Amino acid sequence: MSPAPPVIDLHTHSSVSDGTQTPAELVAAAAEAGVDVLAITDHDTVAGWPEATAAARRHGVTLVRGIEISCAWRHTSVHLLGYLTDPKHEGLTAELARARESRATRLERMVELMTADGVPVSFDEVLAQVAPGATPGRPHIADALIANGTIAHRDEAFRDWLGDDSPYYVGHYAPDPLRAVGLIRAAGGVPVIAHPFTRTRAGVLDDAFVGAMRDAGLVGLEARHRDHGPAEVARAVALADRLGLVVTGSSDYHGAGKRNRLGENTTTPEALAVIEAASSGATEVVRPGAGST
Ligand code: AMP
Ligand code: FE
Ligand code: FE
Ligand code: ZN
Repeated sequence: MSPAPPVIDLHTHSSVSDGTQTPAELVAAAAEAGVDVLAITDHDTVAGWPEATAAARRHGVTLVRGIEISCAWRHTSVHLLGYLTDPKHEGLTAELARARESRATRLERMVELMTADGVPVSFDEVLAQVAPGATPGRPHIADALIANGTIAHRDEAFRDWLGDDSPYYVGHYAPDPLRAVGLIRAAGGVPVIAHPFTRTRAGVLDDAFVGAMRDAGLVGLEARHRDHGPAEVARAVALADRLGLVVTGSSDYHGAGKRNRLGENTTTPEALAVIEAASSGATEVVRPGAGST
């Protein structure tokens, strides 16, 4: 009998962005859930990497260090995963800092609009939900409303106040996807579009633009994801096939902040090997016991 294939989950969040567990808790939860290879991909930041790296060594989990950049294309939000980037790359670092700063201002503006309409939440309460140095996001407004007893789950806040089509919605600086692909490649990393055909958002990516992203250096599409139904998975797999892109699957786990469970969608070892081979090596995959950085 051949051994069971490794469980590879390449998209998760910690409290360094909008997950509810610290990077160390996230890695521990992954070990507990039987995940062999985990990627930490916080929104617009690499701040969780050192803590996750130490925890991965303790728990015997293989760690792929990554980020998830929120990009904007026409009226559609495109999330771009970037694996194994050089965390010191100046262009990418500056771009992520710019996005994080704009996110803070934007949350303050959203809270002003909500308060003016009687939603019981203050910006101080929201800031209390953002870990020091973490990337602020709409989920932190939801967490403030949970903390003050207004709602029980983030879902309710997104349904009533925080959705993309809500009157309280305010955008933030988000790079063009082609620029973000270029920056990730320049930083030696590997770009993969997260949940490209998510059904719950306003616009839908078109195949021609994914082709343009491939020409700019895109490596893969995350096809297997909770936000994709069978039709979206099939569309992503067929498009990846046609464009010569690798296909991944991941949970997009956010701790208690979303219903997504660790390991609920997974990536094959072959796809992971393509991703690793496409990186410059500036940031290595952390393999416990292998004794490297
Ligand atoms: P932002 O990055 O500030 O635009 O907020 C978007 C984030 O909100 C996404 O990364 C999701 O993690 C989270 N999100 C979106 N919809 C929901 C929902 N219904 N319940 C919980 N979290 C959500
Ligand atoms: Fe998120
Ligand atoms: Fe996403
Ligand atoms: Zn995500």
